[in-house]
Amino acid sequence: MQELLIASSNPGKLHEMRTILQDLPVKLIQPADIRLNLDVIEDGKSYEENARKKARAYCAASGKVTLADDSGLEVDVLGGAPGIHSARFSPKANATDRDRRDYLLEKLRGFEQPWYAHFHCSVVIVTPSGAEYVHGANCYGQIIDHERGSHGFGYDPLFFMPHLGMTTAEMEEDKKNMISHRGLALMAARKSLKQIFSPANQA
Ligand code: IMP
Repeated sequence: MQELLIASSNPGKLHEMRTILQDLPVKLIQPADIRLNLDVIEDGKSYEENARKKARAYCAASGKVTLADDSGLEVDVLGGAPGIHSARFSPKANATDRDRRDYLLEKLRGFEQPWYAHFHCSVVIVTPSGAEYVHGANCYGQIIDHERGSHGFGYDPLFFMPHLGMTTAEMEEDKKNMISHRGLALMAARKSLKQIFSPANQA
């Protein structure tokens, strides 16, 4: 079976991608499966740039079709912050997800609610022949001033979707996959992957 390298060592992401891409005739593998450990510095100015950097580096090192993603949270009254800095949004050393959520609420204190926000995810697929496929999606909601729910990760307990009446941390994984920025971007990426791995392209 053909292999698709997922340029991430995050087991949660791999699990999510396996679920969404399960009907494709490809085996999803992670860098550790082929003893690859690259230190790709995510210093791009956009999610897409960061995802492209990771996908290109891992594709070049492995010779395999590679998929990388980059995502973040953008809050309107904060001018789009934390954005591409979402994973590092806290002045604390060794900050946890909880620290980042607390810091976000600290930054939002004083701004009138509702605090509109969205998650964005960019997915870039690079093939050894140099073809690149880019997909992106948003998930819209608002930040609330107290945590709700215990699923998910990152900012999920603060990310409320009014039309669904719950935060993304209150959703079962399957439900979140259907509406999330990453789920939607991966669903779009499936189309490119189907093309890349179609028997006609493998011949
Ligand atoms: P990355 O795509 O793994 O670099 O994620 C960047 C950061 O954005 C994560 O560490 C989280 O803080 C935040 N983030 C991205 N997607 C989600 C999500 O689905 N829920 C909550 N936080 C997210």
